[in-house]
Amino acid sequence: MIDYGGKWCLPVMVGKEDGLLAIAGVWNNIMKVEAKTWIKGKRINSLMKGVPGNECYIRFRIDLWLGDTPLMFKWPRLFALERIKDCCVKDRVPASNEEILQLCCWDRSPVTSVEVAELVEYVNLLNGVVLSAAKDKWVWTPDGAGKFSTFSFKSLVSDDSSEDVLFSVKGPRWVPLKCRIFMWRLVLDRLPSREALRKRNILVGSDMCGLCGDGVESVDHLFSACSYSMGVWNRLSEWIKVPPIFAFSVYDLLEVHRGFEGEDKAKDIVRGLVLVACWAIWKARNDKIFSNGRGDFEDIFGEVRSLGFLWLKSRSKHRNLVWREWCNYPSYML
Ligand SMILES: [Zn+2]
Repeated sequence: MIDYGGKWCLPVMVGKEDGLLAIAGVWNNIMKVEAKTWIKGKRINSLMKGVPGNECYIRFRIDLWLGDTPLMFKWPRLFALERIKDCCVKDRVPASNEEILQLCCWDRSPVTSVEVAELVEYVNLLNGVVLSAAKDKWVWTPDGAGKFSTFSFKSLVSDDSSEDVLFSVKGPRWVPLKCRIFMWRLVLDRLPSREALRKRNILVGSDMCGLCGDGVESVDHLFSACSYSMGVWNRLSEWIKVPPIFAFSVYDLLEVHRGFEGEDKAKDIVRGLVLVACWAIWKARNDKIFSNGRGDFEDIFGEVRSLGFLWLKSRSKHRNLVWREWCNYPSYML
């Protein structure tokens, strides 16, 4: 940590490599485990808030820097339309004479009522933002002065039982035990992905993804970055009527139900369907590798819908579930 004129900051972001921000020193290790490190139901990196200045190290939509949530979660529809998902704050916040909208870079312009509503909120909020001429820096939010200390970190961790995460992994009871156990193994990185097998020196042949063949087959790739699983998440988000699902790790998938605006019973169904989808993706991957399966994302989504229907109907009080209604909207009966 470095003291910049009496103000504490983290000298962590040092440059860009392959379009991703490179992070130096001990914080590199911390950021590597951030996806797996939760404190009081929050990721460790959500406890660090960026204070953007004249550099390009704080990501506009992904990092926490404005308000109390990253903008990708605040405006999910706009995040879906953003062409450069990891753009930095300086890329999108006008310095002086530029207009906010001129700096936007969309795959297509926002047109739906929800997208336009998010855009109006976006413009209003950014209107009041002025970037300083200082360097970008990070502050540790659990501390009033923004200062990180091992004492502060330890007291947070010792207080935390991580019950939220454990509860998320357990999953609702209408999902069969084999699926819930599968999810445990997935979250603990205990699945025999090709990357995991290579690390144990028991892989024969390629370590590329068994579904898309484009990228090393880690669990994070297979369930979040793979074009096949992204197709499944797209179809699922349309079906359950939530904003597009963008997962950077399997932990993000455990959070999808939180973005669903409905009562707890409906959240339970969404949570279960995410587990079923992970199960179906893994099954399709195995079928493609070992049984010449097609691994088509529409087939995988169809499997999610069928298994979800079968299990919810037979393992919950929703005995009168109707297939046609279910296909339109899975929480129709609530
Ligand atoms: Zn893939």
